[in-house]
Amino acid sequence: MSTSAPKVIVIGAGILGASIAYHLSRRGAAVTLLERGRAAGGATADSFAWINASYGNAKPYFQLRLQAMQDWRRLEQELDGALRVNWCGCLSWDLSDEELDDYAQRYAAWGYEVRLVERAEIAALEPGLIDPPARAAYAAGEGTLEPVAATRALLTAAQTRGAELRLETETTGFREGPNGLAGIETRAGPLEAELVVLTAGVESAGLAGQLGLHLPLEASPGLLMHCKPAARLFERVVEAPGLHMKQELDGRIVAGESFGGGPVPNDPEAEGARLLATIKSRLRGAEALELERVSVGLRPIPEDGLPAVGFAAAGLYLAVMHSGVTLAPAIGRFAAQEILDGVRVELLEPYRPQRFSGA
Ligand SMILES: Cc1cc2nc3c(=O)[nH]c(=O)nc-3n(C[C@H](O)[C@H](O)[C@H](O)COP(=O)(O)OP(=O)(O)OC[C@H]3O[C@@H](n4cnc5c(N)ncnc54)[C@H](O)[C@@H]3O)c2cc1C
Repeated sequence: MSTSAPKVIVIGAGILGASIAYHLSRRGAAVTLLERGRAAGGATADSFAWINASYGNAKPYFQLRLQAMQDWRRLEQELDGALRVNWCGCLSWDLSDEELDDYAQRYAAWGYEVRLVERAEIAALEPGLIDPPARAAYAAGEGTLEPVAATRALLTAAQTRGAELRLETETTGFREGPNGLAGIETRAGPLEAELVVLTAGVESAGLAGQLGLHLPLEASPGLLMHCKPAARLFERVVEAPGLHMKQELDGRIVAGESFGGGPVPNDPEAEGARLLATIKSRLRGAEALELERVSVGLRPIPEDGLPAVGFAAAGLYLAVMHSGVTLAPAIGRFAAQEILDGVRVELLEPYRPQRFSGA
């Protein structure tokens, strides 16, 4: 794209749409961001929002995630206090002994800040744990944030740089011109653009399908229990068997049981109460914790578990992924480069949407 202020429409104001809108506006694009409901009302609102390059990934995906962690630090500087990541680190022991060893050795060799810690050190790091495990992996550079606040901070920063945010404006279709997409249709009428960015989370597959694009996407439910703010009981993200938990900077504890899969829970309130009981049995001082709410979010997960990002058709750029909270700042910066500079970012090459159509 070569004009001085290319007109770009971004569909969906979750954390990815907000980040891409921010990075495009910062580079001088004329951005209109359309959201069918409220900002950060999709998967982002219901995210655990652990920022990590943790165990279980191939090296190229690890490198993208590591880059994204560094980009969160950049964003904290750029947004000058409007956005705060809690760089609390993470203790994980929901892995087998072999996996723990492999994680500590292989990832450390890749340059990741991770090491094995034993019971005495775990107890010193987290004195609130009633029964610390014999061994855990400690990744000191990981973090977490409040995802709705972070999305709003990005949106405000985008608006400050000229982006227009239209809430309650649903995109219903696309307008095609002689050279590819020429804009979109909304319930409030058509809108023209030189480029459309699709960041509609789990709805992206249906919208892409209108253009004949195949985007196999799972909407994987994930339940989280949120406690009312409480005195600090622990510092780090904890990944234990059957319990993933963190305590936000405002004292709220957020917890889940697993990384998802499976059906939408039948009785979320009962599962939330069970998770709260689990926390109380594993954490000192937790007796008075009170349940605030239980959320069930739908993770947008491309079929192979990896991001789908890049030009999907002439005039259409797509960004759909799980771990979208971790990845948002890097995806935003790279998408702006690919869109505005006409370059291809090497780190994104494994994740092109064309892999699903065999193109
Ligand atoms: C329980 C759970 C735990 C998670 N844990 C983590 C974690 O620890 N770390 C991590 O990195 N990631 C995690 N994730 C994943 C992460 O939250 C998502 O990858 C990320 O939020 C996706 O952001 P998004 O902007 O792509 O999508 P969304 O947040 O879903 O945003 C898409 C937006 O598009 C809007 N939209 C849809 N259709 C239209 C339309 N037709 N017109 C206009 N707007 C439209 C929606 O209303 C929505 O606001 C978790 C997710 C869940 C549910």
